[in-house]
Amino acid sequence: MVETSYIPQTLEEALRIRKETGAKPLAGGTDLMVMHRRGTGVVPSFPWPVMIISSLEELKYIRREGDDIVIGSGTTCHAIEDDPSVPYAVRTAASLMGAESLRNLATIGGNVCNASPKADLPVPLIMMDAKVTLVSATGSRTLLLDEFITGPKETDLKDDELLLEVRIPLPEKDYSHVWYRKIGTRKANAISKLSLSAAVTLDADGFIKDFRSANGASGPKVARSTEVEKILEGKNVTEIPSVLEQFLDAYDAILSPHAMPTYRRLSTRRMLAHFLTEVASGTQNMIVT
Ligand SMILES: Cc1cc2nc3c(=O)[nH]c(=O)nc-3n(C[C@H](O)[C@H](O)[C@H](O)COP(=O)(O)OP(=O)(O)OC[C@H]3O[C@@H](n4cnc5c(N)ncnc54)[C@H](O)[C@@H]3O)c2cc1C
Repeated sequence: MVETSYIPQTLEEALRIRKETGAKPLAGGTDLMVMHRRGTGVVPSFPWPVMIISSLEELKYIRREGDDIVIGSGTTCHAIEDDPSVPYAVRTAASLMGAESLRNLATIGGNVCNASPKADLPVPLIMMDAKVTLVSATGSRTLLLDEFITGPKETDLKDDELLLEVRIPLPEKDYSHVWYRKIGTRKANAISKLSLSAAVTLDADGFIKDFRSANGASGPKVARSTEVEKILEGKNVTEIPSVLEQFLDAYDAILSPHAMPTYRRLSTRRMLAHFLTEVASGTQNMIVT
C-alpha cells in the first residue's frame, strides 16, 4: 500500500511538496514499482511518501539550446529514441532499453537517478560529458552526470531536489565513427551484462582529433578515463594496430567488475578492439547494437 502519495500539477507545486515532505519522486515507476513489488496483482508498498511526477508536462521536452541538446527529465525513452536531434549513441541506448511498452513509461530522469551501474543511458551520456541540472524550491545547480552519480544506486540528489534536465554538449564536428553496443542475455527486454559507447573524430588526413569511450556494468559506476583516451588522440588511424595493446591494457586498468570479472574484462577488450579495427579500416560509420 502507498502510505501517502502526492500528484502535483506543476513543477512549482512539486518542488514545494518535495521541500515540505521529502516525498520520493516516481516518474515511470519502472524501477520503483519493481523494487517494491509484493507479488502479482498486489499494489507495491513504499516505506516513504511518494510524489507521482509523470503528469508534469514541464519535464517533458527535447530542445536545442546553443550547442547543447537538452532533455527534460520526464522525457520517455521512446520519445528519445524517436527524435533525430538526439545524438546517435544516446538514441541507440534508449532504443535498446527493455520492450516498447517499458520505453513508453521509462524516463531519462528515472534511468539517471536510479544510478544502476547496468543502466543504458548514463554510458553514452557520460561519454559525451553530459551535465544534469537539479532544481529545488530555493534554486538550481548544474554538474557533470559523472559527478552526480557517486556509486552504485547512489547520487548527489538532495532531499528537496528534483532532476530537471540532462544537457548534452554536441561535438564541434560530427563523430566519424560512433557506437553504442550492449551485451544482454537476449536482444529484447534485457538489462546489460556489459555495454560500451565509443566515438572518434578524424581529421581529413586520418588523424584522431577526439576519442572517447565509456563502459557500463563493468564497475560501481560508468567507467571512463580521459587520460587513457589520450593514448589514441593525435595518432593516425594507420598507427592504431601498433598502439592497440597498450591502449587496451590501460583501459583494462580502469575497469573494476564485481561479478564475472574475466568475462567482462575480455569482452570489453574485444568490443574496443572491434571498434578501433573498424575505425582503422574505415569500414563503417555507425553501428547499432
Ligand atoms: C522489465 C524491465 C526491463 C528493463 N530494462 C532496462 C534496460 O534494458 N536498460 C535500462 O537501463 N534499464 C532497464 N530497466 C530499468 C528502468 O526501466 C529504467 O531505469 C528506467 O529508465 C527508469 O525510469 P522510470 O521513469 O520508470 O523511473 P522510476 O522508477 O519512476 O524512478 C527511478 C528512480 O529515479 C528517481 N527519479 C525519477 N525521476 C526523477 C526526477 N525527475 N528527479 C529526481 N529523482 C527522480 C526515483 O525517485 C527513483 O529513485 C528495466 C526495468 C524493467 C522493469
